Amino acid sequence: MTTPTPYGNESTAAPVEPHRVLVLNSGSSSVKYQLLDMRDRSRLASGLVERIGEETSRLVHTPLTGGGGGAGPRERTGRIADHDAALKAAAEELAADGLGLDSPELAAIGHRVVHGGLKFSAPTVITDEVLKEIERLVPVAPLHNPANITGIRTAQALRPDLPQVAVFDTAFHTTMPESAARYAIDVETADAHRIRRYGFHGTSHAYVSRKTAELLGKAPEDVNVIVLHLGNGASASAVAGGRCVETSMGLTPLEGLVMGTRSGDIDPAVVFHLKRVAGMSTDEVDVLLNKRSGLVGLCGDNDMREIRRRIEEGDEQAALAFDIYIHRLKKYIGAYAAVLGRVDAVAFTAGVGENSAPVREAAIAGLEEFGLAVDAGLNAVRSGEPRLISPEYARVAVAVVPTDEELEIADQAFALVESLRPQGLGQVDN
Ligand code: AMP
Repeated sequence: MTTPTPYGNESTAAPVEPHRVLVLNSGSSSVKYQLLDMRDRSRLASGLVERIGEETSRLVHTPLTGGGGGAGPRERTGRIADHDAALKAAAEELAADGLGLDSPELAAIGHRVVHGGLKFSAPTVITDEVLKEIERLVPVAPLHNPANITGIRTAQALRPDLPQVAVFDTAFHTTMPESAARYAIDVETADAHRIRRYGFHGTSHAYVSRKTAELLGKAPEDVNVIVLHLGNGASASAVAGGRCVETSMGLTPLEGLVMGTRSGDIDPAVVFHLKRVAGMSTDEVDVLLNKRSGLVGLCGDNDMREIRRRIEEGDEQAALAFDIYIHRLKKYIGAYAAVLGRVDAVAFTAGVGENSAPVREAAIAGLEEFGLAVDAGLNAVRSGEPRLISPEYARVAVAVVPTDEELEIADQAFALVESLRPQGLGQVDN
């Protein structure tokens, strides 16, 4: 018989210091996961379950350095009914690689939680109270928090003994001053409905701004960085001495830059106009601005590779979409330079930022007066490493810094759990 321990059913084997973290990113119909070994921060496995609840569900599991590493991805297709089934399927795949979630080596499960409101400015061990607060925030994050909650509940059911840690997308932005965080609307109404600018992609902005300081050979406290997280969702942030002082997303991820399918900034009166004049419902406007706008609304494509290909072929609609995207980006770079006063680096990250040399070139072009320039040769280099792409003479460094939200979540979750261990938190003392 096995003996239950705080970390699962352990046999009589010598005690193992828990050192693995499972990172879960639960969307409404998908779950992404990664298992990391925090001794060397290596990745043991990663996977994605998509189209949960549909007949065409798919799980792709990739063993990495540990377990069955090197064997290549494995795929399962066919209906995966819900998040519970998705996580169980992922656990089976991990177990097949000798990385079962019942292992005493698992120290914590780190959850990406999109909205933490004002309450959560740091990673937090999930208790019933914490879960209630995440639930209370559903009205301001109706698309994201319910899926995150489902993921947490499912993981709790799987390993009720294990610390589950929430790492909030909004946390890094809670240092924004009120002048940046408040909208200029009636204060009572704003406060009654918790309307303010929260910002998102915080885990990425935190990681990239720190990595950029490292790339410059400086401490985060000593540098001011503009981070441009350009993925399908896109946001900018101004980070002064390691603290976020401004970011482009607001109450929801709709505000700010032009994105793959989101409009970013628009005059809010467009909404009244669409309702009054075009007869659209609130939900229709919501879908228009979140799903049918941005690059896809402007030219029919949201993949920057496809847009560049069309531009090469002389497609004017794609060229205009690109120009609008770049124009907005430049406006934010200029605005954030003004907010920061002194800029040491501009860092590009995420799918577009890491991979699209034309976007980086165009965004920085003409900003020489701000001390910014891009070296064409360096910009053309493809690499998964953080790197500088500005010429020697440039006053402000321009960098490409691949983001790693999973590693950041694992780091934060593990650090928290480790810090609690000596105090002997019920579920973590060993
Ligand atoms: P993310 O949300 O960070 O995964 O970024 C996804 C987006 O990155 C895609 O929609 C593409 O527009 C963009 N992307 C990915 N790979 C490339 C590439 N090689 N060149 C240009 N854009 C890319």
